[in-house]
Parts: sequence; C-alpha cells; structure tokens
Amino acid sequence: MLGNQRERLPDVGSLLVVGSGKGGVGKSTVSVNLAVALARAGASVGLLDCDVYGPSVPMMLGVRKRAASSGFRAMLPLAEAKNLAPEKKIPPLTRYGVRVMSAGFFIGEEQAVAASSDMLGLLIRQLLYSVDWGRLDYVILDLPPGNGEPQQTLCREMALDGAILVTTPQDIARIDTAKALAMFQNADVPVLGVVQNMDGLLCPHCGERIEIYPHSKEVRTRLDQVPVLGSLPLDPMAARWSDEGVPVAISMAETPFGQAFCTLAREV
Ligand code: ADP
Repeated sequence: MLGNQRERLPDVGSLLVVGSGKGGVGKSTVSVNLAVALARAGASVGLLDCDVYGPSVPMMLGVRKRAASSGFRAMLPLAEAKNLAPEKKIPPLTRYGVRVMSAGFFIGEEQAVAASSDMLGLLIRQLLYSVDWGRLDYVILDLPPGNGEPQQTLCREMALDGAILVTTPQDIARIDTAKALAMFQNADVPVLGVVQNMDGLLCPHCGERIEIYPHSKEVRTRLDQVPVLGSLPLDPMAARWSDEGVPVAISMAETPFGQAFCTLAREV
C-alpha cells in the first residue's frame, strides 16, 4: 500500500517520525530540538512522545507534571478516537512554541508499563488522534526504540511523510539502526537521513577529540547509503541543559551544537 492510501492526520502538513534501532542514542534529544528549531524558524509544530517505556520528552521540556491525564481514556476504540469532537480532545501543552503531548503525562515517573507491543501501536495511534493539535505544519513522533510491532503498525497505517534516524557511531548501534532503516524502506516511508549523535567528545582541557564508541570502516550497513543530516558530539553541557528542561536549540543556540538543529530544521 502506498503512503497516500494510508491515514493522514487532518490539518497536519507533514507527519515526521524520529526512530532508531536502540534506546539511549539521542532520539528524544533530536525530536525535541528539531521541534523547537522548527518552531523558532516560524513553523507550527506538534511533538508526540510515543516512548511509553521511557518517555523523556516531559523532562527535556521542563513539563514533568502529569498535566493532561484527566482527558485521556486509554481503552477508547480507535474509531471513536478518530471521530472525537474537538472539545472532547486533549489539549496539548505548549512549551517553547511547540505543542507537546507525551505518553509520560499518563504514567507515573517511576511506573513500569506492561503493554503488549501490538497494543502499543494502537495506543500510539489512539493518542495521536485524541490530541487537539489544531492546524500544524509538522507533527513529530518520537518513536519507541527498535523496529517491532508498534513502529510497523504506524508505518502500515499512517501516511508518514519522512523518517529521521538517530544512531551513535558505534557499530552495534549502526547495525541496529540499519534494521530500522530497512523497516521504513520496506514500508515505502521516505527516509530523510540519519543524525549521528555522540560522535566524539572534545576534551574540555586540551580540545583534543576523543572517540568514545568503537566503529570500524569494515562494518558496512545500508545506513551508509542515506544522507547524514547532522553530527553531534557528546557534550556534557547538552546533557545538563536537557535535564534542566531547556532544549539545546535554545540554551546552546549560538554553539555549533545548537546550530546543528537549525540546519536540521532546514533539511526536513
Ligand atoms: P533516546 O531517546 O534515544 O533514548 P535520549 O535523547 O533520551 O535518547 O538521550 C539519552 C541521554 O543522553 C539523555 O540523558 C540525553 O540528555 C543524553 N544525550 C543525548 N545526546 C547527547 C549528547 N550529544 N551529548 C550529551 N548528552 C546527550
């Protein structure tokens, strides 16, 4: 089935997904900062954190409270969610000009989630439809890590306008992310490119570049064939700002790290 026969979110220009083969590689960091950079460039943007197992978007945006829990019925059938009247939908929070919704708003910060993976795909689509996004240029989905059932359900059911992959330079991360790439390509989702994160560390004392992750030129994957949209070093300040709830696209806007997201926003 081609993309244009799949479901489109009403009033949304482009539905983009940020995915990776592994957790902890910077998917949420890229999703949050891309959303903020797009908003700062004048676009209207929504961000849905679909990472039910480890939703980090609320903390990264400084909206940790369970703000919207009252309006969402987790077992609402999808068909009903699609036809919700606007006044019955959940209003997103607006932060740094981005309309934000997160699975984390409905889950206690230290609560474990026991949802089967096929339920998860349904839950993500249901959440997507239950939010009162309004008219937007972009909605960005921060996907759970991997390429299993929830990701495949989204690819199958929704018209995704572009996928951005995030990986570290480490061979194992690239191999896993190549599997996510294959999933998008098999589903005819346009892959915009890959962001290489945690790509070296600049020593704060001597400025020398330190390679953190092992990667060998011999390990070739299909990831080598997609455009590199950006390369971000491991930067302790970026981690600190992120935990403070201020995205680097704002807190480090004048640094090469922050500027990388302006470039990324121009590329999508
Ligand atoms: P994922 O969404 O893939 O699980 P996150 O974006 O949550 O990954 O990043 C994992 C952790 O690493 C977070 O604490 C984040 O602040 C930190 N982090 C991500 N990218 C960088 C970076 N380039 N430099 C420093 N810390 C980073």
